[in-house]
Amino acid sequence: MKYDVLVIGGGLAGLTAALRLAQAGRRVAVFSAGMSALHFSSGSIDLWGRNPDGRVEYEPFNALAGLPGLRPDHPYNRCGLETIRAALSFFRDECAREGLKLWANGSRNHFHVTALGTLKPTYFSPDTVYNDRIHQAFEQGPRVAILTFEGYRDFHPELAAASLRRHPLFQKSPVTTGRIRLPLKDETGRPVHELRSIDVGRLFDRDQAVEETAAAIRRAAPEADMVGLPAFIGLAGYARVLPRLMELTGKIIYEVPTLPPSILGLRMDQALKNRLAGQGGLLIPGDRVVGGEIRNGRLASVETQMYGPVRLAADHFILATGSFFSGGLVSRPDRMVEPVFGLEIRSEPLRTHWVGRRFFDPGSHPFLSYGVETDERLRPRMPDGRPLDNLYAAGAVLAGYDPIAEASGGGVAVATGYRAALLVLEEDGDRP
Ligand SMILES: Cc1cc2nc3c(=O)[nH]c(=O)nc-3n(C[C@H](O)[C@H](O)[C@H](O)COP(=O)(O)OP(=O)(O)OC[C@H]3O[C@@H](n4cnc5c(N)ncnc54)[C@H](O)[C@@H]3O)c2cc1C
Repeated sequence: MKYDVLVIGGGLAGLTAALRLAQAGRRVAVFSAGMSALHFSSGSIDLWGRNPDGRVEYEPFNALAGLPGLRPDHPYNRCGLETIRAALSFFRDECAREGLKLWANGSRNHFHVTALGTLKPTYFSPDTVYNDRIHQAFEQGPRVAILTFEGYRDFHPELAAASLRRHPLFQKSPVTTGRIRLPLKDETGRPVHELRSIDVGRLFDRDQAVEETAAAIRRAAPEADMVGLPAFIGLAGYARVLPRLMELTGKIIYEVPTLPPSILGLRMDQALKNRLAGQGGLLIPGDRVVGGEIRNGRLASVETQMYGPVRLAADHFILATGSFFSGGLVSRPDRMVEPVFGLEIRSEPLRTHWVGRRFFDPGSHPFLSYGVETDERLRPRMPDGRPLDNLYAAGAVLAGYDPIAEASGGGVAVATGYRAALLVLEEDGDRP
């Protein structure tokens, strides 16, 4: 079996790379062992939200322009500003083609509300979470209500409201909370407190009880101009259901990310996978790449758990296996390892130095920026210190950045995934 490009890992980085390659006409296959960070994410794409001194950054591109001097080995510097912009615009277009609209505040960051009610600087948000209308309404100091439905365990409006009330952006806005009884029935007869956002989303996908839900919202928040609802109003049907709820209630309604599983992240995952299939890319879920054969300084083929002894050959390979969360990096008692190829990893040798002293350590945790080291062309170094000609790394498996402290995780995944695809095309002699 021979592909032009084999991508290892079907998260944000791997899917972005695969999509760009499929668009360029490459025969591309993506092996993905399991769920990715997208299934747990807010659905917003963080580009650069915080500076090293902890200050919120409103102009992410200004910060990125200064990054080569400040942090020369940051993955963004392997891409360059022009490519980062191109990657973001490509990503947004691809999502839009599948009906997932991403909103940006021009080239500035905006804040989205997290499941815990904190406000986080981000670059793209689904337009059900933030959009021009919400942006303008905030200028007026709207009355905000945060609602959930009775029995739902993955969102706590009181917690969210308490955090929002402390934030300067909400000083003009009274924030109230409330609960609605969802007039929905699951055919399995499960009580509502057993339903997760995905179960409820599926019911809304069938347009169940939209009128009754709107009436319940009006009763629970009669005074509110804006209503925040946990994101559960459909995996695919949200684009119909949300406008209908707004029309029926006369209120601006926006979605708030919930605790995992996250419908907002799942929508993005689904949009990218649908798009890849539409472009002729192949996704092989549930299979793990476990090793590869190297010949003459190139990766010739890989082997996977399911294909066993059958070797899968390709001209190029992209490693996008994520970080510790997805098994792209693994911590052993005495060291960190990259489990597929045993690549060189940048980390502290002493385990006691891997983590900060406190869980919410303001200095973050050192292990978050550990990962695979690469050369300028995103080629990781093998254990002998040399890169292979045709293996590129992208996304959270990379060293040199802290996705949490910088609020940069999604942006790095999209930019480096896109850049890896361009490098493959360049290597083939294509002018991307
Ligand atoms: C829980 C969580 C929530 C986050 N939320 C956000 C957010 O809201 N916004 C944001 O900007 N950033 C967020 N991030 C940061 C995140 O790192 C990036 O946004 C990005 O999603 C990482 O993408 P990735 O493709 O590099 O890795 P991942 O999303 O981790 O995907 C890696 C994939 O590779 C697969 N894989 C691993 N090993 C193998 C193998 N050997 N063979 C085949 N497949 C393999 C995994 O199963 C997984 O599907 C979040 C991170 C985490 C962990």
